[in-house]
Amino acid sequence: MPTTIIIGTGFSGIAMAHALQQAGVDFLMLERSGEIGGVWRDNVYPGVACDVPAHLYSLSFAPNPGWSRLYAPGPEIQAYLRRVVDDLDLHPHIRLHSEVTEARFEDDGWTVALADGTTLRCTFLVGAVGALKDPSWPAIPHLRDFEGTLTHSSGWDTSCDLTGKQVGVIGTGASAIQIIPAIADQVADLHVFQRTPAWVSPRRDRPYREAEKAVFARSPLRLLAYRLKLYLTLEARFPLLFGRRRWAARTVEAGLRRRIHRYIDDPAKAAALTPDYAAGCKRILVADDYYPAMNRDDVHLHTAPIERATATGLRLGDGSEVRLDALVCATGFTVHDPLGGLRVVGKDGTELADVWGQAPTAYLGLAMPRFPNLFLLLGPNTGLGHNSVVIMAEAQARWTAMVIRRALQEPRPLVEVTPTAMARFVRWVRRTLPNLVWGTGCDAWYTNDAGVNFTIWPGSTLRYLWTLRRVRWRDLHWG
Ligand code: NAP
Repeated sequence: MPTTIIIGTGFSGIAMAHALQQAGVDFLMLERSGEIGGVWRDNVYPGVACDVPAHLYSLSFAPNPGWSRLYAPGPEIQAYLRRVVDDLDLHPHIRLHSEVTEARFEDDGWTVALADGTTLRCTFLVGAVGALKDPSWPAIPHLRDFEGTLTHSSGWDTSCDLTGKQVGVIGTGASAIQIIPAIADQVADLHVFQRTPAWVSPRRDRPYREAEKAVFARSPLRLLAYRLKLYLTLEARFPLLFGRRRWAARTVEAGLRRRIHRYIDDPAKAAALTPDYAAGCKRILVADDYYPAMNRDDVHLHTAPIERATATGLRLGDGSEVRLDALVCATGFTVHDPLGGLRVVGKDGTELADVWGQAPTAYLGLAMPRFPNLFLLLGPNTGLGHNSVVIMAEAQARWTAMVIRRALQEPRPLVEVTPTAMARFVRWVRRTLPNLVWGTGCDAWYTNDAGVNFTIWPGSTLRYLWTLRRVRWRDLHWG
């Protein structure tokens, strides 16, 4: 029986494995798929790349001097994760094709049930499943009646050839704005179906020169300084864009608005691409090639609501019908609770789904009363809109390893956050969020159907890292 089971082998699962290796605690990693990795294994659409600089969107203990570009392509990130797993010698700890369906706390430990019917036991359980794993298909009537090629950005059908075709893309989020420029040259006409325009800032992507890579490889200190520079640049966006001083955000918005008009010749198209909500309330996207692609005569922007699908295309609310050979749904993910919707039963039969209801909460996004020895990585209210989420996951992994190591020194290794500490943290989140940009009102995936934003960390990452640098032991109780 492993001391700890980690569910997931993406960035956060690997960070947790590394932290446990450092702490000398044994562990098993469960992966539902046949290969390690998370979103970067599943998202293989044309143009897929990170939207945070790769030198920052990587694990601090596994720097990669060889990133090819400022924003590395998806396959390069997946190859990086495979390499880290090799370098850390994690393969003997990984069990593939092992989807967890239920976790139950009993007899001072966790019983983990897998989809294939087997059960496993462990003392500590870490959920590292990530929020963005299951594609969200749009609820368009008769979508399955469409007889052309139908694919989703996450779970892209790599066998589909879009060359010379009439292609539709639903959505203008982070995935869509990468797909649209990547396929615009290849297709005959591209029809973009937009519900809400996004704020799009310049990306200034570029390949790294061989000389730069050589310097990074030779000098870990230079590489670290570069990472720090990237980190501080992004971190400065928090007070400027997301804080209370809206004048700074308004200046940025004015610049982004001008940028739309610089690239888009048709004033009506430019107006349609201009958001009417505060930048940052939905994720600010980064792209250099999106507006040039949208400016093309063969890229058509449709803003009328989609009424229904037909065998040959989409019918829109303005009565028009768009004929399509292929339809790409870049419509995001079904954002579950932070444990991916799996059934979790804590002390005395407490169901996590009942405790969370419409508002998942956890102390520091990490732990909950009545669920001893259970830790969540990238749990409630620890997502970011301005910096690399890998940094948050690493801080959480280090904190969790500190707690597990200390718990293992107790006669009875059982640790649980106190209700008082939990209530204090949740009060702070609920008080803080409405005063930030997310309180200005917009319909983002950060907020669930009940209007609860359980995804975003309402502070700077510096604040989170500072809080997690040590464990406040009085917030936990033992045995
Ligand atoms: P998303 O941000 O949720 O965008 C989905 C898009 O589809 C939105 O424009 C949405 O419109 C539209 N949509 C959804 N249902 C629709 C419907 N029924 N009819 C018309 N339009 C519909 O999803 P995503 O682009 O996949 O990105 C999700 C998250 O993944 C991002 O926020 C980011 O955190 C991450 N991501 C990161 C990268 C990266 O690092 N490179 C790349 C991709 C994604 P509304 O805005 O009106 O809802």
